Amino acid sequence: MGELMYEQFGITLMLTHACNLRCTYCYTGAKIEKVMPLSIGRRSIDRAIASLSPGGTLDLGFFGGEPLLQAGMISTLSAYAHQHTQTRGLRLSLALTTNGTVTGPDAWAVMMMPNLDLSISCDGLPDVHDRHRVTSCGRRTSQRVASTIRRLVAGSREFRVVVVVRPDTLEFLADGIEYLRSLGVDCIQPSLDLWTRWNKNDVARLEKMIDRCADLWRRSLPDLSVSWFDTKAGMLTDAPTGKSSRCGFGQGEIAVAPSGRLYPCERLIGEDDPTSPMALDGNALEGADFLTGSTTPGRSHTACDGCSINAECDTVCRCSNYVRTGNVSTPDGLLCALNQACMTATANVLNKPVQLSIQLGNQGASP
Ligand code: SF4
Ligand code: SF4
Repeated sequence: MGELMYEQFGITLMLTHACNLRCTYCYTGAKIEKVMPLSIGRRSIDRAIASLSPGGTLDLGFFGGEPLLQAGMISTLSAYAHQHTQTRGLRLSLALTTNGTVTGPDAWAVMMMPNLDLSISCDGLPDVHDRHRVTSCGRRTSQRVASTIRRLVAGSREFRVVVVVRPDTLEFLADGIEYLRSLGVDCIQPSLDLWTRWNKNDVARLEKMIDRCADLWRRSLPDLSVSWFDTKAGMLTDAPTGKSSRCGFGQGEIAVAPSGRLYPCERLIGEDDPTSPMALDGNALEGADFLTGSTTPGRSHTACDGCSINAECDTVCRCSNYVRTGNVSTPDGLLCALNQACMTATANVLNKPVQLSIQLGNQGASP
């Protein structure tokens, strides 16, 4: 069985469906009070560890809902994973994305944990953020999130800010990045809302905005990291590009719902409908490891075969393809345009010309 084991295994635990916010674009479904039992969290970690080869790395992520509503469970499961990886000579990395509004003592202790890759969701300018990111009573949240960001900066805590980008907020992205810079943020991850409609005009506006953001990035180097360009710069200079292109999709990467049902990616759990076509066989409580996962087809499109950024294109992410086109194998025109625009803009900044001969049509640009 040794040759089947993984050097790296990613397990993401959706600790709760509940959330204190009601973002209008949320894709995780109804905010029901369903919390993952500790036994499912521990067993998931055990199985992920049993799937690793000697010296391997466990990537443990916490997801929700709002995961910091279960801050105590994050501490408990992190300590459990730490103990069990250490005794087996394995490495552990932890990751958490939070909405930045849960800041009680337990939550703060989690956010300050060493070795935690921390992401805060903030959509940039306060008025833009508050268009969509509101509480269950409809209240604005921008000031609370800004306060969390200032506190993290004051505590010299490294973190990144995830900025959701939609057609109706796109025009404010560069100004939003400037605003986040003024708060002390130096690492930004723009993230397209893949669940909404992008028409041809939106895609053209996106390409223009990417050029504007790349110019901002160029003027702020080396003090500002923007994932859109850093990843492509890594490719152009042969530097390591981090985890951005990793997509195990059920193989070396599993997401677990509070019920224990298994998914290839946390973004596909939603309300964890028992009839979901994306759920994998079995339950976290059944089995000793994750070495016999189902196989999923890779991205498949003849145009991509001849594309110079084929291997690093975001469309290798089968979850994104599924969200955009309903088929894990079929790449999407929106993500194609994004990847090519980011690559071209980065190449221009680095003065390294790149040949991109093929661009997919816009067939996947609206779901
Ligand atoms: S904070 Fe996250 S989980 Fe909560 S409503 Fe917003 S997008 Fe959904
Ligand atoms: S940039 Fe477009 S053509 Fe190139 S690999 Fe990605 S989806 Fe395919």
